[in-house]
Amino acid sequence: MDCIFCKIINKEIPSTIVWESDSVLAFKDVAPAAPVHVLVIPKKHITDITSITGEDKEIVWEIHEAIKKIASQLELGDGFRVVVNCGADGGQTVGHLHYHILGGRKLQWPPG
Ligand code: 5GP
Ligand code: ZN
Repeated sequence: MDCIFCKIINKEIPSTIVWESDSVLAFKDVAPAAPVHVLVIPKKHITDITSITGEDKEIVWEIHEAIKKIASQLELGDGFRVVVNCGADGGQTVGHLHYHILGGRKLQWPPG
């Protein structure tokens, strides 16, 4: 499958990994939008947040566990943001479900 995040999972494309388990991978975004910008993805190819099914309950929980651990590891105790873009209008450019962790500075709200 021609998916860049599956290639990152398979180590065909290099990335800076910050956390990994059997089912979840987290790596630094190549074009960071904040001092900390990490992408957390399921190793299973899921296209977007609307494609998640009951079969994926464990994976969704593990992603949230990973986010908690990464926030602690990267010392985001003052706060951070988790973003899941979906579809063209949502700004999704890679068709493999990913959670952005953004932090390390005061973030503006609402986003543009
Ligand atoms: P989206 O716009 O789909 O929500 O987010 C995709 C993110 O993936 C973008 O922030 C982009 O910088 C990042 N990205 C795209 N290609 C690569 C890559 O090859 N390596 C890494 N580390 N990040 C990537
Ligand atoms: Zn994929």
